[in-house]
Amino acid sequence: MRVPLLDLSQQYAALAEPIRAQVEEVLSTRNFILGPKVEAFEAAIADYCGSPHAIGVSSGTDALLAVFMAMGLGPGDAVVTSAYSFFATGGCIARVGATPVFIDIDPVTYNFSTTALTRYLAESCRRDNDGSLLTPKGDKVRAIVPVHLYGLCCEMEPVLEIAARFGLQVIEDAAQALGAEYQLRGTIAKAGTMGNAGTFSFYPSKNLGAAGDAGMIVCQDEAFANRVRHCRQHGMEPRYYHHFIGGNFRLDEIQAAILGVKLPHLDEWSAARRGVADRYREEFNRLGLTDRITLPAEPYRKCGLTNHHIYHQYVIRTTNRDALREHLARKEIGTAIYYPLALHEQECFRYLSHRAGDFPESERAARETLALPMYPELSREAQRYVVESIAEFFA
Ligand SMILES: *Cc1c(COP(=O)(O)O)cnc(C)c1O
Repeated sequence: MRVPLLDLSQQYAALAEPIRAQVEEVLSTRNFILGPKVEAFEAAIADYCGSPHAIGVSSGTDALLAVFMAMGLGPGDAVVTSAYSFFATGGCIARVGATPVFIDIDPVTYNFSTTALTRYLAESCRRDNDGSLLTPKGDKVRAIVPVHLYGLCCEMEPVLEIAARFGLQVIEDAAQALGAEYQLRGTIAKAGTMGNAGTFSFYPSKNLGAAGDAGMIVCQDEAFANRVRHCRQHGMEPRYYHHFIGGNFRLDEIQAAILGVKLPHLDEWSAARRGVADRYREEFNRLGLTDRITLPAEPYRKCGLTNHHIYHQYVIRTTNRDALREHLARKEIGTAIYYPLALHEQECFRYLSHRAGDFPESERAARETLALPMYPELSREAQRYVVESIAEFFA
């Protein structure tokens, strides 16, 4: 039996007609960039997330870049983030000239450890005469970028507390977490809406995927939203007058139109993904594998949240990861490693002078974790085959 890591065919088949109609409409109007479809989709995301402002951009990477540029982050600034994320999180910090500062992850959630974050800011950094916070190397700490990895929100309450204490901006990298919820001071908040700004990706394999690249920024402040809108078009306002340097971060009408068709289904897809996760747990328990394999944690399951986890990825942990992966490949089961290197181990960040052991839990996750097939339409039969194949490996 062949079980791919991700199969978008059923989802597309179910929506092919309205999607084609939307694409036809854009083609017939020849309004290709930043038109009514983008505006409608921005309004739909703002409404879905419960955020006052949403700005459509060209990708999740450009969403981060546009926010960092609009905040004026640059040389001499430090931006604190997780040592274990997709490259864009660290890459965009470096691209604006700021210094990425990594924090090790919590081995249970794979999100950065808020204890380590607090310890770093409160103990390793020092206050400058003007009250600003300096890293040991002398960069000014300006922002924290929590990453809601695999569809599970970071513990945002301590993040927001420490950010307020030191006057730092908070930019949530919610590329993998559109719709994921967190209980913040007694109310339910969606990923991306808790900090100063949040960024989303609609890369085709994300939970809400475009037919190409697309992204979104949500934010609280109107003046900042306007600045991001200008940043999306080379810092231009009015036409051909440039107040600061931005980029071409525009969103296409065709992508926005397609995403607009799919968004109303996102919550049912996330619920189906949780169903898939529940079935995996049942099967792993049934075959007595939970002493060999660590299943994803669900720390917010009992918090009264619906989208307590949206399972962008279903990631297990085992010390025999590479051999298991080869075994599953022979059984025609698709798996992936997110990510084989922690950010501080990447060659391009060698200039930061980190060494092995600096972030042990991130390094261990890079060695031990494996993503199993996960998509809303994954059948129980396919899941049984996956887990039975894993049992065969350990037998
Ligand atoms: C996918 C992703 C991004 C980048 O999104 P793109 O749309 O591919 O540019 C950024 N951060 C994280 C955590 C991601 O998973």
